[in-house]
Amino acid sequence: MTQADSPESPLSAASDAVGTAAEAFELLSSETRLAILVALWDAYDPFDDENAVGFTDLRRTVGMTDSGQFNYHLEKLTGHFVESAAEGYELREPGRKFVRAVIAGAGIEEPTMDRTEIDMDCTLCGGDVEVFYEDGWVYNVCTDCDGLWDDEEAPTGHLSKFQFDPAGFAHRSADEVYAAAWVRAFQHIYSMIEGVCPTCSGSVDRSLDTCSDHDESGVCEACGRRTALTVRFRCPVCKDWARGTMGVVAKYHPAAVAFYYDHGLTLQYGFNDVASINDRLERGVTSSEVLSEDPLTVRVTLALDGDELALDLAEDLTVLDVHEPA
Ligand SMILES: [Zn+2]
Ligand SMILES: [Zn+2]
Ligand SMILES: [Zn+2]
Repeated sequence: MTQADSPESPLSAASDAVGTAAEAFELLSSETRLAILVALWDAYDPFDDENAVGFTDLRRTVGMTDSGQFNYHLEKLTGHFVESAAEGYELREPGRKFVRAVIAGAGIEEPTMDRTEIDMDCTLCGGDVEVFYEDGWVYNVCTDCDGLWDDEEAPTGHLSKFQFDPAGFAHRSADEVYAAAWVRAFQHIYSMIEGVCPTCSGSVDRSLDTCSDHDESGVCEACGRRTALTVRFRCPVCKDWARGTMGVVAKYHPAAVAFYYDHGLTLQYGFNDVASINDRLERGVTSSEVLSEDPLTVRVTLALDGDELALDLAEDLTVLDVHEPA
């Protein structure tokens, strides 16, 4: 029995909540084992048929002279993060996933991006917009108004925040980081709408949050938002989450994509510059109206160049009806 298996072990106590995650943490709580994963990662090429590293080469790369000790650690990883074949050792997919996550996130020095004005105007007030990075999020804030959300963790003027990994900062300006964060957020919410967690592939729970005492005149004091209805997505497995308005959800429907396309606005393509994001934000404005409380039905109206497309959505976000422009 290892230390972590004893009832007194904090890791063992925590394992009730995190399950096999505790086993993985324990397995990786050795510098030698981490060095083995990194060495196998270095040797790995996704388009190479042969990625195996022989025992002796691997031991030398890791820098261990004691063959028995090295074998002990390698055996611990084998079957979980590493597989053994006739040609040698290579990473299994969980091993690649682990190293990939470290490289995308904490493996690189935490980047900083101070408040930087970007080439866009606030869609609410026309004011200047700045972006900055904090704790894994790219924030987008208006310097002149209250913004869209009143979030305890976010500054005044909060318009949006997108998850972004440190690796995304390489070779990108502030404008480019913001645009890249949009691309990521688009894919992230799309996967959530389809019910598949983009981080762990688990099933996603979703709920509609309705403000019963909503004040439409600005950022509502009761709910901290400008829209009374918010869709929340949450993965019960890895706790990844997203939230958005009904308008955001409706824009993924093919009728909405076609409607915007007919008016020269490509909704699912060409995010990757601030000009196209501005276009999308300025022209892709939606409004929502509750048609029925029980069962809940919400009509989202997309208006552009004098035409209107309306989609009626049920509480589970299925589109019940599409009202094409007359
Ligand atoms: Zn503003
Ligand atoms: Zn998940
Ligand atoms: Zn409210």
